[in-house]
Amino acid sequence: MMGSMSSCPFCLIAAGSIDADIVYSDDQVVAFRDINPQAPVHVLVIPREHHANVAELARADSEQLAALLAAAAQVAESEQLAAGYRVVINTGGDGGQTVDHVHAHVLGGRHLTWPPG
Ligand code: AMP
Ligand code: ZN
Repeated sequence: MMGSMSSCPFCLIAAGSIDADIVYSDDQVVAFRDINPQAPVHVLVIPREHHANVAELARADSEQLAALLAAAAQVAESEQLAAGYRVVINTGGDGGQTVDHVHAHVLGGRHLTWPPG
């Protein structure tokens, strides 16, 4: 599924129809603070186009996938996460994905444990 879906909360954020604390945006991606932060810095990076998960995005448009990861690195820099950070893309039910519009979590500002739960 590509384009924009009116039933998708992240499509609505990308369109400006739902408020979000946006920290970065360009013609391909939008980055905004997670509403339920799990670390001092917790930003979500999404492609403006709707793709359900990272596998679908990779299949459909590798340029947008690269833009997503480049924006995650840009956010880490602007949020001053030089000490380290984590980029997470939960995928599917067992992966903990709850919003079916692909998004990269950028987490940092504290030491992150491994393995994740
Ligand atoms: P995931 O569980 O990987 O699908 O992550 C979905 C994330 O989206 C969760 O961390 C939620 O807290 C976050 N989230 C859901 N709705 C919003 C919203 N309207 N604005 C900001 N973050 C949101
Ligand atoms: Zn969407």
